[in-house]
Amino acid sequence: MVKRIQVIRGMNDYLPEETIFWQHLENLLKQVLVSYGYREIRLPIIEQTLLFKRAIGKVTDVVEKEMYSFEDRNGDHLTLRPEGTASCVRAGIEHGLLYNNIEQRLWYIGPMFRHERPQKGRYRQFHQLGAEVFGQQGPDIDAELIMLTMRWWQTLGISEHVRLELNSIGSLDNRARYRKALVTFLVQHQKHLDENCRSRMHTNPMRILDTKNTNIQRLLNDAPVLADYLDDNACTHFSGLCKFLDIAGINYTINPRLVRGLDYYNDTVFEWVTNNLGSQGTLCAGGRYDRLVEQLGGRATPAIGIAIGLDRLVLLMQGLNPGFSVKSRVDAYLVAVGENIQFAAMLLAERVRDALPFLRLMINCGGGSFKKQFGRADKYGARIALVLGESEAAAQEVILKDLTTGNQETLAQSDVAARIAFFIPHRNLI
Ligand code: ATP
Ligand code: MG
Repeated sequence: MVKRIQVIRGMNDYLPEETIFWQHLENLLKQVLVSYGYREIRLPIIEQTLLFKRAIGKVTDVVEKEMYSFEDRNGDHLTLRPEGTASCVRAGIEHGLLYNNIEQRLWYIGPMFRHERPQKGRYRQFHQLGAEVFGQQGPDIDAELIMLTMRWWQTLGISEHVRLELNSIGSLDNRARYRKALVTFLVQHQKHLDENCRSRMHTNPMRILDTKNTNIQRLLNDAPVLADYLDDNACTHFSGLCKFLDIAGINYTINPRLVRGLDYYNDTVFEWVTNNLGSQGTLCAGGRYDRLVEQLGGRATPAIGIAIGLDRLVLLMQGLNPGFSVKSRVDAYLVAVGENIQFAAMLLAERVRDALPFLRLMINCGGGSFKKQFGRADKYGARIALVLGESEAAAQEVILKDLTTGNQETLAQSDVAARIAFFIPHRNLI
């Protein structure tokens, strides 16, 4: 026997039972984005490696350990995107979308790639839905993005299961001053740090703040606090945001340890966290990145963005709704029994599809008795059956059977689409 080739570790196949759930979810999330005036941008999955090194920062977990980088046949250094913001900024600069006085509210969706240790909620190919806003510097837009995410949770019925953690990490200057104080503290307590933290101490000391090591967490209770190093601008921006959230009735916890893993953030950073997914509890994360456009060669443009991890969101939703499935695969099933009936049946199905493009109409293939074919209609969850026998075909008629009540009526084939439209409401989702 030939050895079977298997999917790459940490990457998933999504089978039809699952994709229907994903489509449903994505449609709901996209609808919310559209209702706030956000527009979609589609970006390549591969970019030059330099883009991510420059945007995310060389001394981050993502760039140091997690990127899928390779040389292509020309010897160019390329990387499968580990996140969406860098590409979005690159494209914005390239197409002249980003200036201080031009506003862009954008969203994207797609697979991202990170070479991490695979486990529940953490994969090597995962999916993000992200939103980015350029050209707005006030806390009002930070609040809008958070309110938009809140609306996502409400739409999905999960707002009780997520909570918002918020922090300000101030400006680059603020962090440089804080970093000095933090390193001084860490050096004094070196012997209590683990190897990972010790190696981070001089390269990216702020990452030590979100260590999972509880002993070190305890030690950090006495460390200098970033909030004490914020300047007036940073404080005003942050209190402005908190005020908006208070007025909007959105609860949040200020978490002074929240620093985020990517270097490009400043001022506002936040995460939506759930207790339902173990240590992969961050569902959605975001923050302001006012320097990134300039850092990638564009004109200074304030910006803020968020990204949801869709795989985690699906896990959370499935955990909360164990019985949930989008049961009905089709609206109508065409049953056809008789000599040479299949041609007539297929032509009829095409005419109905011409008239009702949103109808999910499945035609029986491979023959079988009436009983067998009705059994299949049932299996696919059809609401109605169209029944074509030899006599109906000869008379250009068809029987429409309501599978809920059992009622049936004989109709001219030319009238059947209008009658179906009465049974099946217009739908453009899924
Ligand atoms: P984590 O701390 O869990 O590694 P992160 O800070 O690296 O997350 P971001 O880069 O902010 O994550 O990405 C935004 C969201 O994308 C995360 O909140 C999470 O929901 C999701 N995400 C990130 N990495 C993965 C992954 N390897 N598998 C599945 N989802 C992921
Ligand atoms: Mg990570």
